[in-house]
Amino acid sequence: MDDEELLRHSAHIFLPEMGIEGVERLKRARVLVVGLGGLGSVVALYLARSGVRGLTLADADLVSLSNLPRQILYADRHVGLPKTQAAAEMLASFGYAGARIVAERLSGPRLVEEALRVDLVCDASDNFATRFAVNEVCVKAGIPLVSAAVIRMAGQLLVVDPKEAAAGCYRCLYPEIEEEAESCSERGVLGPVAGALATLQAAEAIKVIAGVPTPLARDLWVFDAKEMESRRIRRRKDPACPVCGAPSSP
Ligand SMILES: [Zn+2]
Repeated sequence: MDDEELLRHSAHIFLPEMGIEGVERLKRARVLVVGLGGLGSVVALYLARSGVRGLTLADADLVSLSNLPRQILYADRHVGLPKTQAAAEMLASFGYAGARIVAERLSGPRLVEEALRVDLVCDASDNFATRFAVNEVCVKAGIPLVSAAVIRMAGQLLVVDPKEAAAGCYRCLYPEIEEEAESCSERGVLGPVAGALATLQAAEAIKVIAGVPTPLARDLWVFDAKEMESRRIRRRKDPACPVCGAPSSP
């Protein structure tokens, strides 16, 4: 790192948990952010600002007016444009060039292809089908996953770490497949609550990349902004999990 970079990242370097080595790891890291909504747009901004050079940003949607109160990376002039394009433009205005842009809803072989390019995946999507698919790809490929979700005034956060197999995976939390009822705009979400989850998702991603241990590799963290309550719940692998469970004997 040159002097300018040392100064730019000095607040991270001074953290004993991070140090120069942690910041160097961030610079080398390749991260896929799935979804550029209220979570992913903020995660992308923080990771870019924290020095992660290898960002892949995936989203198929266009910026809409109703996104703007929580998707604060975007401006009014971006309404109607692809979120990937708007995000790349805004990151470029902050001096961040070279984000890999994937303007599609990742699934199937394309999801596998993009996941295999990176060291860590941040799932910031807004639907169970994508979350289940991202989880399955990450578990099978042994790629750490930082998964966040937000609804109304509450959210959850967890890390699926290949080194913590006993904690299971995202799918273990949902033995029954749940159907997505409504979109974020329809069921409502408080903008800053999405931002809170997003900043903590970025913090967890940075910790995993820098090698800072996190209890969320074993626990699920749930946060309720209405009652201002949060707690960690120990996760246990579901032996019947179709993704990480033991294969059934013949
Ligand atoms: Zn599982």
